Amino acid sequence: AKAAGRNTFRFYDESMQVAIKQRVSLESALRQGLQLRQFQPFYQPQVNEEGWVVGAEVLVRWLHPEKGMISPADFIPVAEETGLIIPLAELLLTQVCDQLVAWSRLPGFADLSLAVNVSARQVRQEDFVERIIAQVRHSGANPQRLKLELTESLLLHDMDDMIRKMTALKAFGIGFSLDDFGTGYSSLSYLKLLPLEQLKIDQSFVRDLLSDPNDAAIARTIIALADSLGLSVIAEGVEQECQRHFLAAQGCHTYQGYLFGRPAAVVDFMASLQLDPQG
Ligand code: C2E
Ligand code: CA
Ligand code: CA
Ligand code: CA
Repeated sequence: AKAAGRNTFRFYDESMQVAIKQRVSLESALRQGLQLRQFQPFYQPQVNEEGWVVGAEVLVRWLHPEKGMISPADFIPVAEETGLIIPLAELLLTQVCDQLVAWSRLPGFADLSLAVNVSARQVRQEDFVERIIAQVRHSGANPQRLKLELTESLLLHDMDDMIRKMTALKAFGIGFSLDDFGTGYSSLSYLKLLPLEQLKIDQSFVRDLLSDPNDAAIARTIIALADSLGLSVIAEGVEQECQRHFLAAQGCHTYQGYLFGRPAAVVDFMASLQLDPQG
């Protein structure tokens, strides 16, 4: 038993070393990738009931010269832990604001809004509000076209601080969407204190909407809740027409998911919009 224990210890010891090495190399690759600007915003359409694209969610992609396209799930957590999410988010927001400025002069694109994901590390910066405002002002982008996606866990950390920051950004013109709604632990009484504009139904409830009565009930409840709080509601992960139809019948009129388009580089996003204006 003792020998086995020792072997077990060794095994974990080695795998931990491998994990640490991988993390350190990912961290330095991230650092280098930032310098070389290997990160790019991809855009996934958000569509209204008539099928018109009303905006897009910005989803970051790492275009690594050797490894190809790396998914955010594989590097955002390390970027968060190391603090590299700060310069990464700044780089991304610059690109997003420049895009909004370019679109503001293009018929058909001027009204699109862009939703950007925000991480805990970012909002906890003391000067989070000032940094965002300075960046948007510098770019000349219209803050009304910009939305920030927050998750519930992020709000619960320090409610008063969050309310203060969100209120300041809202006064500047930036709206907030509560991402992955229903998967966290928000108390409903908090919801009305926060200057939110939108609830986003998590894709885990959309997936089995038609076969799982619990998911259907949750989706219905979120839609009713948004309605009674005067918030708009969007469903993510909509892949099938029957899901869209069900959501529409329940009163959800904005959708995002593979049914309408996958996250794509800006040229592809724009091309798909021109080819298929009716959705
Ligand atoms: P999220 O914010 O919940 O984004 C939605 C994810 O669902 C995206 O994955 C998107 O590509 C995927 N998705 C969209 N439509 C469908 C669908 O119809 N079916 C299915 N199965 N999936 C769909 P992605 O792009 O891999 O991003 C993963 C997560 O990484 C995001 O989840 C978000 O939490 C984070 N992330 C992405 N970009 C950023 C960023 O710029 N900053 C921060 N802080 N986090 C980001
Ligand atoms: Ca999101
Ligand atoms: Ca989400
Ligand atoms: Ca999600």
